[in-house]
Amino acid sequence: MKITLILTIFVILNYYVLNSENILYAFLALVIFNFLFTTVLEYLNDKYWKDDIPDEFKDYYDSKSYLKAKNYKIERGKISSLSSFISLIFTLLMLFYYGFGFISDLAISFSDSVIVQSSIFFMILYFFNFLIGIPFSYYSTFIIEEKYGFNKTDIKTFVLDKIKGLIISSVLIIGLTSLAVFIIEFFGSGFWLWLWIGLSLLMILINMFYADLIVPIFNKLTPLEDGELRNKIEAYSKKVGYSLKNIFVIDGSKRSSKANAFFSGLGPRKTIALYDTLIQKHSDEELVSVLAHEVGHFKKKHILFSMILTILQLGVICYLFEICMSFDVIANSLGSSKMNFHIGIIAFSFLYSPLGLITGILMNILSRKNEFEADEYAKLTYDGNALSIALKKLSVDSLSNLYPHPLYVFVHYSHPPLIERLNALKKPH
Ligand SMILES: [Zn+2]
Repeated sequence: MKITLILTIFVILNYYVLNSENILYAFLALVIFNFLFTTVLEYLNDKYWKDDIPDEFKDYYDSKSYLKAKNYKIERGKISSLSSFISLIFTLLMLFYYGFGFISDLAISFSDSVIVQSSIFFMILYFFNFLIGIPFSYYSTFIIEEKYGFNKTDIKTFVLDKIKGLIISSVLIIGLTSLAVFIIEFFGSGFWLWLWIGLSLLMILINMFYADLIVPIFNKLTPLEDGELRNKIEAYSKKVGYSLKNIFVIDGSKRSSKANAFFSGLGPRKTIALYDTLIQKHSDEELVSVLAHEVGHFKKKHILFSMILTILQLGVICYLFEICMSFDVIANSLGSSKMNFHIGIIAFSFLYSPLGLITGILMNILSRKNEFEADEYAKLTYDGNALSIALKKLSVDSLSNLYPHPLYVFVHYSHPPLIERLNALKKPH
């Protein structure tokens, strides 16, 4: 009796709720929701910018350069709104006219191999996106960044970057598609577990070899020459017991005047790369304090923890993806008669977006807490004042927003707003 009741409910649900038309409406609603959510947050954030310069920045900004920061933010906001609006229209048209199903049928007509079919499908979509993105990227680099004095890229570097990006993305798309389709076909039902393991291993490998394999494609890494700075970095690393494998200088000035640093590598492969623009603009003490902050992330096990969390999240994603793949009706809603890997990925990317938004917010909350801890570590083991100066200089240098809206921070910021970090660094122990 009970079972018949459940079965009846299921049949009714299946007929009235889980039909391809309703699923299509759900997709449309999710896409529109995501767009509105992002746009409203951007709008609030823009309105929140105050015209007075905070006291701590009086020495770093005059009213002219402060106004420049505001205008920079507004101009960049406009171009990114236009880009997300075009992408909204494109996605809605693709859904409304069953474009995904059409491209899928086209891709399937080329080959009997699912790996080839799915690769062609993703490459068509990627290439289309790539072409639409070029004018935006051109405008942003050569018009906006140029106007505000950041751009150091010439046309040759720009074109080469695009070609390299195209090649690397193609290798990644085809490689990932082949790996995933192979696992799905080989293991069949219950594939999610193997897909999870495969993707996790790949992610760890890419993380380990990022500085050795990916970075040199775009930039030149030269070992930091012997001297004051190198001695100070090594003395600090030795003092806190952090083994550095390599200290590099990276030619960031080839593209932009903005300064940066990155740290890469797991276990024994730890690498630090300082942008040449960073070295030019900061004192040795400021540079070591930035390094101390990064060492703090390592010592407090933030890197390990976020890796574990990302892998767990990947597990949930793979599991839900297998469930999504078991409904042909979901594929029908995109205009494909049968479910397959690439249609499953497209459908899943829509369905997962609300959950992705929530996990993104949770990860950002954790990340902001970790940033405070890493700052604290730099303050205790090195010099909080030097770090404060470094952070202020970096912020002025990149014309970053000093008054982000709290809701915008809550959703999007992986780092706490600068003023909060400076206040925490000032607190006596
Ligand atoms: Zn950090």
